[in-house]
Amino acid sequence: MTTARDPIRVLPYGAIHMPTVLSPEHFVSLEDLPQFDGRTVFRKVFSELNRRGRSGFVVASANGVTRYVKGMELAEAAVKLAGSKHDQFLPNARADALRQVSDTAVGQVLDMEWAKSSVLVIPATPVDSSADAAPLQNAADAVFAIVQLQRPVGWFLNHEVVMQTSTGKPVFVCENGHDNPDSDHGSCYYCPGDIVSVKRV
Ligand SMILES: [Zn+2]
Repeated sequence: MTTARDPIRVLPYGAIHMPTVLSPEHFVSLEDLPQFDGRTVFRKVFSELNRRGRSGFVVASANGVTRYVKGMELAEAAVKLAGSKHDQFLPNARADALRQVSDTAVGQVLDMEWAKSSVLVIPATPVDSSADAAPLQNAADAVFAIVQLQRPVGWFLNHEVVMQTSTGKPVFVCENGHDNPDSDHGSCYYCPGDIVSVKRV
């Protein structure tokens, strides 16, 4: 995924092509990556992501901003969980399950087992904007807080696949094909249908 950059690493130390953490292929400014308080309910998070045309977001807890969330994956996992409750003899079961998630604080949702794979933990120690990006790129998929003169300026998403999770926006699709900006009360805004899938637009 970073093949194009690999030759750079074999250059002698101090080579002028040293990648920086501010390079636009990996850096997202504070303004461009939505941040939510962990107490914000799931539905509101997705409504805001839809408004801002974003998929990835970071979540602040009492310990600071500790989690990056692949929003598309989280939305898919929630809809899949609700789908697993689908029961032809309990017509409201699927919508009820999604409504419950919808009304839950996103910080709490992220602690649930089914949601964990959509989270990347942000290391507690921020990285200075002058740092060499190569060691960060050599790590597993991760998001790092970047500071300049000790002030937060944005985020380093270390691989292209991580970067891709920040773009586009998730849309919740009902069984009749209507696009919904968020999971609302578990069913469609435009018809009585259940939300059955998620797509990225
Ligand atoms: Zn509908």
